[in-house]
Amino acid sequence: MTENNKNTSKGKILAVDDKQENLHVLIKILDKQGYDVFPAISGTQALSVVHSNKPDLILLDILMPDMNGYEVCEHLKADEQTRDIPIIFISALSETVDKVKAFSIGGVDYISKPFQVKEVLARVETHLSLQRLQKSLEEKNELLEQEIVARKRAEEAAQMANQAKSTFLANMSHELRTPLNAILGFAQLMSRTQRLDPENKENLAIISRSGKHLLTLINQVLDFSKIEAGRTTINESKFDLYALLNDLEELFSLKANDKDLQLIFDHYLNFPQYIIADEVKLRQILINLLNNALKFTQKGGVTVWVREKPIFDKGVVSKILFHFKIEDTGPGIPPDELTTIFEAFVQTSTGRQTCEGTGLGLAISHQFVQLMGGELTVSSQFGEGTTFEFSLQCQLAEAIDVKNTKIEKEVIALEPNQSRYRILIVDDKWMNRQLLMKLLNPLGFEVREAENGQEAIEIWEKWEPHLIWMDMQMPVMDGFEATRQIKAHIKGQATIIIIMTASVLEEERVVILDAGCDDFLRKPFKNADIFDLMHKHIGVRYLYEEESKPNGDEEESKPNGDEEITIAELKSEMLTTLPDDLLKQWQEAVEYGDLQTALSLIDRIGENNKSLANTLSKLAKDFRFDILQEVFDEW
Ligand code: ADP
Repeated sequence: MTENNKNTSKGKILAVDDKQENLHVLIKILDKQGYDVFPAISGTQALSVVHSNKPDLILLDILMPDMNGYEVCEHLKADEQTRDIPIIFISALSETVDKVKAFSIGGVDYISKPFQVKEVLARVETHLSLQRLQKSLEEKNELLEQEIVARKRAEEAAQMANQAKSTFLANMSHELRTPLNAILGFAQLMSRTQRLDPENKENLAIISRSGKHLLTLINQVLDFSKIEAGRTTINESKFDLYALLNDLEELFSLKANDKDLQLIFDHYLNFPQYIIADEVKLRQILINLLNNALKFTQKGGVTVWVREKPIFDKGVVSKILFHFKIEDTGPGIPPDELTTIFEAFVQTSTGRQTCEGTGLGLAISHQFVQLMGGELTVSSQFGEGTTFEFSLQCQLAEAIDVKNTKIEKEVIALEPNQSRYRILIVDDKWMNRQLLMKLLNPLGFEVREAENGQEAIEIWEKWEPHLIWMDMQMPVMDGFEATRQIKAHIKGQATIIIIMTASVLEEERVVILDAGCDDFLRKPFKNADIFDLMHKHIGVRYLYEEESKPNGDEEESKPNGDEEITIAELKSEMLTTLPDDLLKQWQEAVEYGDLQTALSLIDRIGENNKSLANTLSKLAKDFRFDILQEVFDEW
């Protein structure tokens, strides 16, 4: 090979043959084609040069004195450093068995002597390019493996960081919620006393409002961290969607009134009211969107619009697709800010002016809707208003499955003729014990306190309380351990233990219940939660403010005529109870949107059917002639 083309060699080849003339021919033809060829006159020589000058390919004669080509090949294949060099045998042996042996010991090809120059070149070229391809594949593989290892390490590091974040979350949540529990709880207790003058009542209301605001902020930050750490789960339950919407209407109508805004809940639909979904998250999403809409809107109003569409499976309704829309006539959002609105900590110029909020509400709502299988979107006309909307697919539930959410009334005393209940409060913080003591003592419970799990076990053994309110994190012995020890006794099975936790982590619920606790309550709690849990587990019955009657399980009677009614029900009610002439007059009044005539007709309807009159009157007074008109659409 000439000096010139050495640098551009097409590959390095070792030619092994005991005959000089054969070597000479091979070197000549290969060198001419630009290969870098070096010879070995025996097997032994080949094995020694191969290490100092590693070739890309070996042409190997078989019949040689001392060591034949097969043996040379076997040595090369046994050596880690040379086993990958492709070997082409060149031999005068032409029996099939010779060729088979050549391949079986690791040769890649076989050329019979006397050889054709073109054949040698073609085979050498093929195997060298195969070799090159294999090398590049191996290199790529190695790179890939390195990448996988690096990724795995990064994943592990991220997992550890997430774990650290969760622990931080749990601790922070505990640290922040515990004092908040005391602030909100004592404020609630104080508001029960009659002796407060109006100014102090107002001050107390401010403490309460600020505490609740702080709780919302803490919850938002925690919610967001939980989403980021991938620890948010969907907790579905059966609930009454009508009741949820009515609750929200009640909750926000005061705020809307204060700002002189119109708040319309447009959900007079045929949709079934009992559904299966994550009620807590849906409520949080709607509260957040409504809060924003009312916060930013200065004139006009806010509409919550809900529509339904059945989804059929094999001819039967399997699910319902609910479409929620929250529209406002507020300042709107500029187009360039619309794209980032769902990012965390983003506030638009309007938002920043209010000097309120964290910029987390929409990010959380967006993620919650996504977790529930929908997509929260926004559209806005700057200067005219904003619309947020999303759809959710929900399964239907039977009415009987749904828990009746009772209106919260103030407990004023225990119902007479009950056992004298012994309640043990276990908490290392004096303030927390005081809160429960002051709530339960005046009502006539026998209450005792313990500062840690150890003390709780001692009191429990002698005093046998009906129920224990148990804090989780305490020195000496924590709530888990105390619960485990108490529940290990037969007599302990009869004691109800409810854990109080300031943690927000859903997975802790499983650990708590595993320890043998009967229930758990998150801090900060409402007084009503305490009373409800005692009713649920040991059957305590109360007397309430206003009605002063027992809270048995009897059905709550709704105020006459105030029930929600669907269009279909309204239609059938009107058809069956109204005489033809009255119906005709009513239809005319509705068509013309004539409120005065409608109201006088409602008076006449009320003489025979008070509940129908109430429903129609509510709709007419709300100017919902569109709904009243719908009744006649498919008459
Ligand atoms: P926060 O309200 O706590 O600041 P959000 O994530 O709920 O956080 O909202 C982010 C920002 O989006 C708000 O600060 C405000 O700039 C803008 N925004 C949200 N809702 C509306 C709305 N209905 N009209 C106008 N701007 C809105």
